[in-house]
Amino acid sequence: MKNVFILTGAGISAESGLKTFRDADGLWENFKVDDVASIEGFEKNPKLVHEFYNHLRVQMDKAMPNKAHIAISEFQKKNPDITVNVVTQNVDLLHEKAGTKNVLHMHGRIDETVCLNCGHVVKTLGNTQFDGVCEKCGAKNFLKPNIVFFGEMPMFMDEISDMLKHCDLFVAVGTSGVVYPAAGFVSQAKYYGAQTYLFNLEYTENNYYFDHQVMGKASETLPQFLEKLMF
Ligand code: NAD
Repeated sequence: MKNVFILTGAGISAESGLKTFRDADGLWENFKVDDVASIEGFEKNPKLVHEFYNHLRVQMDKAMPNKAHIAISEFQKKNPDITVNVVTQNVDLLHEKAGTKNVLHMHGRIDETVCLNCGHVVKTLGNTQFDGVCEKCGAKNFLKPNIVFFGEMPMFMDEISDMLKHCDLFVAVGTSGVVYPAAGFVSQAKYYGAQTYLFNLEYTENNYYFDHQVMGKASETLPQFLEKLMF
């Protein structure tokens, strides 16, 4: 086994104090998911969306990685001869804080802002506003948190597709298997011959494709598994 693909979702960050979508009953941090995480919601009320992510950014800045994030980072460090690709649906930076390298944020990052006029991406310093001015093209009223909303294409899909073709072990952690295309990665990996594992609190909608399903808190189940993996 030389190539490991790890897909993480909101559940891995739940024990760091960040709420998931599903645990919140259609509400995310007391807001309707459709209002703050869809392109229609953004078009309807961009001011609200900016306020929401400004609030979330403060929370995410304070959050610390838990044992599951750390286990992934340790696993990567201890196995320099193995390719360990980490793709996250999370916009928080807890994998980076844990020391994991080369993380792909397929749904964007809380610390970036994009100009919808020219595509320029900047690091977000402090709060963002819709009526801000792009530092590159000078356009006003085009700034958006660099987060992939429902109705938009996820990032890095070509790289991810290539990684899925070449992995021998596919591990999904804390993800409900509802949000596509990420929910379909397991079937792609399995099709190309990978062993597939799920670490989640509950069974997921795409569980048919997992060879092994370990139910429980990721901070307990994942470190045990990764520490014992032998190559
Ligand atoms: P989700 O909310 O749909 O599902 C989370 C899953 O994690 C659930 O099945 C739940 O049972 C499981 N879970 C909860 N606590 C767990 C724990 N301690 N250990 C193991 N599993 C646990 O999340 P998703 O599948 O990632 O997809 C929804 C979207 O939510 C993603 O696009 C993501 O960008 C966004 N989101 C991100 C964050 C974040 O960045 N931290 C937070 C909320 C939502």
